[in-house]
Amino acid sequence: MASARALCASPSRPFLSAPRSASSRATLARRRRAPLPSFAAGARARLARVMASTGEEAIQSVVDRRRRARVAVIGAGAAGLAAARELTREGHDAVVFEQGAELGGVWVYDADVEDDLTGADANREKRVHSSVYKNLRTNLPREVMGFGSFPFTRAFTDDNRRFCGHEEVRAYLDAYADHHDIRKRVRLRTRVVAVTPTRSEYRAKNRVSENASPRNEDEDEDERAYVEKWGPRWCVATEPVEETRISLKKEGKTKEDGEESVFDAVVVCNGHYSEPRVPRFPGAETWPGTQMHSHNYREPEGRAFSFRGKRVVVLGAAASGEDLSREIASVAAEVTLASRGFAPPKDASSGDFPLDSYPRNMRRAPGIAALLPETSGVAFEDGSARHDVDVVLYATGYRVTFPFFASFDGEEEASNSLSEASASDSASLAPRSVDNRVAPLFEHVFPPASGPSLSFIGLPWKVVPFPQFEAQARWVARALSGAAALPGRAEMASRAAAAEAADRGAGVADRHAHRMGDAQFAYNDRLLAYCGEPSGFPKWREAMYAATGVRKRAFPTSYRDGPDEPWSDEEALAEARAEAAALELERSSSV
Ligand code: FAD
Repeated sequence: MASARALCASPSRPFLSAPRSASSRATLARRRRAPLPSFAAGARARLARVMASTGEEAIQSVVDRRRRARVAVIGAGAAGLAAARELTREGHDAVVFEQGAELGGVWVYDADVEDDLTGADANREKRVHSSVYKNLRTNLPREVMGFGSFPFTRAFTDDNRRFCGHEEVRAYLDAYADHHDIRKRVRLRTRVVAVTPTRSEYRAKNRVSENASPRNEDEDEDERAYVEKWGPRWCVATEPVEETRISLKKEGKTKEDGEESVFDAVVVCNGHYSEPRVPRFPGAETWPGTQMHSHNYREPEGRAFSFRGKRVVVLGAAASGEDLSREIASVAAEVTLASRGFAPPKDASSGDFPLDSYPRNMRRAPGIAALLPETSGVAFEDGSARHDVDVVLYATGYRVTFPFFASFDGEEEASNSLSEASASDSASLAPRSVDNRVAPLFEHVFPPASGPSLSFIGLPWKVVPFPQFEAQARWVARALSGAAALPGRAEMASRAAAAEAADRGAGVADRHAHRMGDAQFAYNDRLLAYCGEPSGFPKWREAMYAATGVRKRAFPTSYRDGPDEPWSDEEALAEARAEAAALELERSSSV
């Protein structure tokens, strides 16, 4: 522990912004003028040259010469598991830190809810990670949800529905971990509480004390060259977690109970569906009814809370708001589904979710303007109001946070500790999350100032997550090994800035910066191309996703089970099954 703490000691000066000698400035300038070759192309060309001249043995030697990094992965949900699999496959040594008692992330259903039902208090003591509710069924067919390396075409429990329940997804993730033998990589009940850049291990090892003798210029140059190429090393501080629902503060733990170790890289997979985003409306503080966030919704009629006979307003008509309001309407007296800017369509059977698809005790309304404490009412944006409302349920999404980049309490997501070590040019080492835009990031994964040693998996939303996680993780693994070198830092920064500027030009709100929708398919193919796999994702995935969207809009309540017409994804389904069968065959013939 003592040595780990020494390695983790804060740099006495920010290492990327350190004053440089004339010779090192010249070296860096040369390096900047000659940016690293484009990754996939470079790796492919190298392999092709070797293949042409010397054959298989030489290819193996190229693979063997790849850099092997010690990597900390934060979180053992689907993203963290994909990261562990791709990192180990590439030869890295991955350690996955998971605060929960089991792997699977949001798919580990927890019947318990938080004391603060709105979840608005960032410092609330009791926390539940999962936002999954009891009767949740997937909103995508299992085949399209599954990872490419481990098809989700068969059942792992007795739930063999294509749009299955959460227990089946969790069982699938368990099977994925076992199939790729990555369970042993996961350290459960271990929470990452701080991630800070450190001087390279090389420097720390050569330092007798904080006041050591002046450094040798060659060492400095080596260190800078290392950091320039791979990004900084990171000190990861963890704490044991005894009661996973309770924050460390309440457990009375201090940093002294934890451990610190240095890693060559950190892959952030902490999930983004646990910190409620709750709008603050006038009147909310004294409103007499119950306010809760969908994070704390479990069932319409549970022991802890029942919606039976209640008058309910649900705010937010994305996937959760739509599903929950229909489920609640099965027992409530009345449900109003409100969403910003809603205007009734001329024809009740048109629109994304036709009005005539809602049950009779449900109605739609525009967004909430204020809560009215005197009448337990809700005022809407169009001037209308509903009174005697019992519950306002906020299905208003989540905040993207990285508490380990800030204070121990996780107050705000700003990377305070990192900004001290802010990089040479303009960007800091870790990105900031401002209104859910995590920036600056190159392709939603790498901060230009610190990639590839810092990366983020799972930021895009309105996507099919698992296969995308796998592609992002593969890119990270290959960037860390050197098989897929990233563009130069300046180029990454300028491409990240250009993407942000394009968003602003198109009027994309910050909170939608990582929303992809149909753009996900081109993005996924780009990720694989960066990995040197230019053939991209199989096209059946896009076809199945599109067909599901059409079907969902046509049959919002029954799209998961039928009817079959006018929608069909039979061709895509046949291709998915053929792909799974081929993979099975490949496996059994290689044993
Ligand atoms: P998570 O699953 O949240 O995992 C993050 C992990 O990190 C957790 O285990 C957490 O405990 C751990 N962690 C966080 N911070 C720390 C820390 N500091 N130290 C250690 N560990 C930490 N996707 C679909 O494909 N189909 C669906 O039908 C679908 N429905 C959904 C319904 C709901 C209600 C929600 C909330 C999400 C749904 N999703 C669905 C999206 C789902 O979030 C993704 O499928 C995916 O599981 C997210 O994985 P993740 O690993 O990014 O995050």
